[in-house]
Amino acid sequence: MKKFVKVLALALVLVLSVSMLAACDGGTSTSGTSNADSGTKVLKIGTNAEFPPFEFMGDDGQPDGFDIALIKAIGEEIGMEVQIENMEFKSLIGAIESGNIQGIIAGMTVDDERKKSVDFSDGYYEAHQMVLVRKDSDITKTEDLNGKKIAVQEGTTGDFVASGDPDWEFILGVSLQNTEVSRMKKGLDAVIELKNGRVDAVIIDSNPAQVFAEENADDIKIVDSIQCETETYAIAVSKDEPDLLNSINTALKTLKDNGKYDEILKQYIEQ
Ligand code: GLN
Repeated sequence: MKKFVKVLALALVLVLSVSMLAACDGGTSTSGTSNADSGTKVLKIGTNAEFPPFEFMGDDGQPDGFDIALIKAIGEEIGMEVQIENMEFKSLIGAIESGNIQGIIAGMTVDDERKKSVDFSDGYYEAHQMVLVRKDSDITKTEDLNGKKIAVQEGTTGDFVASGDPDWEFILGVSLQNTEVSRMKKGLDAVIELKNGRVDAVIIDSNPAQVFAEENADDIKIVDSIQCETETYAIAVSKDEPDLLNSINTALKTLKDNGKYDEILKQYIEQ
């Protein structure tokens, strides 16, 4: 009988320890995806998912697009887990400065003014501004934009050009005069202003311009006769993270060399 009790006690201890182990294991496996356990560092990157095909909201409600795929591929290269923070375009630089994010990928053009607040990686894409007008518009040349109502996305290079900012004169070759600029939170809202006749033109980057023109082909068109100078997109990085900037540049080069960059380009832009 004593022996039986002993065996029973031993069995109980065994069962208990196994279930405790299982519980511990369960504990680790739920938090197993967390970064503390896997040792993977999180890379917090800001974007504004209103800029197709570079960034837009996917059908699953998550930011998707060329930039998102590129930064995820960079994250894989440098062994960091990318976490995307979606916010207004004009809030992005401030979010780096306040330490909420470490970097930005948002079709952001390299610019001396922005360089005072952030560092830029090597360029990853060349774009230019485009002018969108209603189909019946008689705007055909740069000078026709003087004195006109122009909608833009707030804080973008299109905004600087429309506002006649002398630093951005090179884009059109002249500074626009007496324009009335409507600054919208999203590029699409600027397009809606144009469609509804509240403004005469939209100035926006070439790729989203093409997407918006295609999607609204019955109402608006690109003014092909107005050609703008090139601007370069790069990833903005906190000035406190020079090592991160170096790693991003190295990863970008690797992805260009190994064909992954071209693959992403084909998937999102050159379809
Ligand atoms: N390339 C433009 C800029 O940097 C627009 C970017 C955007 O709207 N996401 O200002």
